[in-house]
Parts: sequence; structure tokens; C-alpha cells
Amino acid sequence: MINDTLIIIRFREHLALEVEIVLVLFINMSCSYADGLSPYDDKGVLGIDEVFDSSDSVREKAQKLAEWIKAAEHVVFHTGAGISTSAGIPDFRGPNGVWTLEEKGEKPHFNVSFDDAVPSFAHMAIVELVKQGFVQYVVSQNIDGLHLRSGLDRSFLAELHGNMFIEQCTACKRQFVLKSATTSVGQKFLNRQCSHVKQNSQTCRGKTKDTILDWEHDLPEKDLLMADYHSNAADLSVTLGTTLQIIPSGNLPLLAKKRENGRLVICNLQPTKHNKKADMVIHGFVDEVMRHLLEFLDLKVPDYNPSSDPTKTPETVEWTLKATDVAAAKKMYKEKCPPVKRKKKSVVSSVNSKVTKKEKVPPSDHQTSIVKTENDISENTVPVEALKQE
Ligand SMILES: [Zn+2]
Repeated sequence: MINDTLIIIRFREHLALEVEIVLVLFINMSCSYADGLSPYDDKGVLGIDEVFDSSDSVREKAQKLAEWIKAAEHVVFHTGAGISTSAGIPDFRGPNGVWTLEEKGEKPHFNVSFDDAVPSFAHMAIVELVKQGFVQYVVSQNIDGLHLRSGLDRSFLAELHGNMFIEQCTACKRQFVLKSATTSVGQKFLNRQCSHVKQNSQTCRGKTKDTILDWEHDLPEKDLLMADYHSNAADLSVTLGTTLQIIPSGNLPLLAKKRENGRLVICNLQPTKHNKKADMVIHGFVDEVMRHLLEFLDLKVPDYNPSSDPTKTPETVEWTLKATDVAAAKKMYKEKCPPVKRKKKSVVSSVNSKVTKKEKVPPSDHQTSIVKTENDISENTVPVEALKQE
């Protein structure tokens, strides 16, 4: 099925700059959720030329990545739209990305609906890497549900911007897998009853909403916590298919650089805003990089299996992030990241700066409710001319 309905999701920061970004999604014709949402100009840096390492270079870098993964204690993968392009879902800022083409007055090309898309080679490779203990956690900005559909266990995945295949109950807060992509975005009611059955055999009387972020919505708290704990604990961050322009997601991979001997690897065709900070940048297709990586790790990638896809199975599947997983991640974080002793502040500075107030989570003091683009992608990575927005 061809999708051709534009869905525009906007996030706003209410601080000084009133920065807004817009996420544009494509869903089936049957959905009509552009109502009341208007286009917005600031979509970050768009359409920068892609860079391609030679095939030999990609292979050599993948070999080095395999060595680094084997040497690392805690590896976190950060995934963006570029991991799903080979599944037929367009990215946002690539040369043929949704926003890049929109800026030119053109429609993006896509050839599959969310329902019909199939997890890419890279999605399935990640399942195997996690299963074999080479990757400890995955943080995704993607809302396409392909990590879910690949069979990746919820315990290993933070979805920071929501998931088109997940509904959440407003009463018990439990999440459940939908059998087809949601017909709404922006955390609206789906006209569905919660599937949770209580211990007394009574069904929860709550109603469910979609989980896709909209205006002024906070990032999902438990997902953000998990992402933060694991990103802080990581001594190797690997980004796949993201220009790292949206925050806080785009800054989480940098936390590995705070660890002793921590490394950051960026895999993206376009230059990203953090290339200068990376220990290695791989300009190659994510699937190609992962294919080499799995070979060097002597792993075989499983085929996509619909019976492991909770959207395709007859029973209702819960997708709630377990409190025990969050507690375990917090414990792991505290063990790996003991608090740093700081000099006592003077009374005056403490009072004036109001920093004595005990911080709420998350631990690394990230923004929790703000998602925005930053247009400095590139001050060090690409020619200034390439950055000028038309
Ligand atoms: Zn409920």
C-alpha cells in the first residue's frame, strides 16, 4: 500500500528561544491526523550531500568496530531513521528525505506502509547482537515500530519518541502492542479499552492513547531513564542512521566519551553535528556496515520471523517497560558511574545558583521534555555553504 498522508508532529520548547521542530510522518490514507497541525519552517539542516567511504574502507572500519565491541564492557546502539530506509520508510533530512523534498515542494518517495514494512537487515542484526551479549542496550528515535517487530525484547529498548504500534492506558499506564499502526498521533484517545486484566479478573476500565509525542509532551519517563542510565554507563556508543540533530536523543551517544577509554562511533551517510567528537565515522549504508560487523563477530543474522513479531501474533502482547528493568538499570548505572566528589560550594553561590536542590532523575541532567533541532550540525564537519538553508 502506498502512503501519502502527511502527519506533522510538533515539539515546542517553552524556554527562551521558543524553538520548535516538526516531525513529519507518513501513514496510511485511512488516517487523517494533519487536522489542526500546520507546517513549520525550522526542520534543522536538510539535504546535505551524502558521503560514501569505499567498500574496502567500510569493511576495514567494520572490522575495527567489531574489535571495539569485543573490548567494550557496555555497548549502546542509538538508532535513527537511516536504519529504516532500506525497509522502505523515508528518512527526514537525507537528500531524498521527507523534509528535504518538502522544502523543494516535492513529495518523498516511499513504497511501503508501516503495517507492510519489514525490519531491515540491521534491525535483525541488532537482535542477534543483543542476544549474544555484544550490545547491552538500544536507544531509538524511530516511531516505525521496526525494533519491536524485529523481536527485540522490551528490556533492551528505549523508544524516546513513541511507537506507531503501541497504545498506552491512561489509567494503569500499561502499554500494549497494536496489530496495525495507530490511526492517531499526539497521544490521542484511540477509542479502545485497556487490555489489562487485574488479579481479581476484572478488566482495567482505562482507555488507551497512542504514544507518539506531540506538542509540549514530555519524553516517556521510563524510556528516557533507561536511555540515560545505559548511555551514561556505555563505554562504546554506536549511532546508526541519525544526524544527531534532535535533542536530547542526539546528545546521549556523547556520554560514552565521559567514560575512561570511552568511544563514540558514528555510522551515517551524511555528516553529523558530532563527527568531530567521534573516534570513528563510517560513511556507509547501515545494512552494509552491519553485514560486515556480524561477519567479523562470526554471527549469523536471523531472518525476520512474523511469529516473533508481536503485531502479527493473535494474542495481545504487553509492551510496558518493567519497573524491575528500570531498577536494575539504575543499580547498574550507580555501580558503573559512582558519583564524582565535588568541591563544596560557598554559601553565597549555593543560594544564588539554586543548585543545592536535589535533582530528580534522569541522572545526567538532560532535558526531559524538549526535543528540538540544532542548526550547528556542522560547523566543524561540512562546508559552510552546504549549511545555508534555502
Ligand atoms: Zn489499564
